[in-house]
Amino acid sequence: MTQPNVDQNEIQKFEALAERWWDTSSEFKPLHDINPLRVNYIEEKVGPLNGKTILDVGCGGGILSDALSAKGATVTGIDMGEAPLSVAKLHQLESGQSVTYQKITAEELATTHAGQFDVVCCLEMLEHVPDPSSVIAACQRLVKPGGEVFFSTINRNPKSFLFAIVGAEYVLNMLPKGTHEYAKFIRPSELDRWARATGLELKDMTGMHYNPLSKHYWLSPRNVDVNYLCHYHNAAV
Ligand code: SAH
Repeated sequence: MTQPNVDQNEIQKFEALAERWWDTSSEFKPLHDINPLRVNYIEEKVGPLNGKTILDVGCGGGILSDALSAKGATVTGIDMGEAPLSVAKLHQLESGQSVTYQKITAEELATTHAGQFDVVCCLEMLEHVPDPSSVIAACQRLVKPGGEVFFSTINRNPKSFLFAIVGAEYVLNMLPKGTHEYAKFIRPSELDRWARATGLELKDMTGMHYNPLSKHYWLSPRNVDVNYLCHYHNAAV
């Protein structure tokens, strides 16, 4: 690839906020709040994570990577933002985890580490890249044959516009204005078409829900209208 699949404006947004990544009352509060739910989901689908090699694509400050490492997995976290990676590395001094953090795209890592990971996670990242299908294809190349891949992103429809942009950024001020761009949201049908084309097989899809009154988050497959999380199996041999 001549041009890396990276939108520098998007990277910049996260660079600017990085120092607050582990502040659980900051802009990153939603990621902290949903983290136990997604770690449980991954564990439920994969089985015990102890001893698994896991790649976390677009790891940011390492909220997911750190928790997976705490479960006994050997974790590599990659991101294209310098500041989030520095924060992730510093945080390990506190948490005592030992994730390998690296500044590299999934596409580039796939040229040297194809088929090396039991599990690949790419959560809350696809809606920030110019070509999400290219990241999905790289994730498939990186996972072992028979391995598991997890994606999460935001659906694209009037309800997701209302909840994920108007609600989260303008009404509830949960996220900085401009965090998400509606046009970059991804419908489950689009994600599945791109994933299926690489040999990934959809195993499960569930919605991530938030009640702003109770401040409670939960997973439910009943609707995937806004945030959703999915599990793919690499059927390629
Ligand atoms: N996955 C993490 C962080 C999500 S925030 C979590 O859910 O906790 C999105 C992250 O994607 C940011 O850290 C941003 O720097 C990163 N990112 C955006 N474009 C990227 C790209 N092309 N390659 C790697 N990381 C990217």
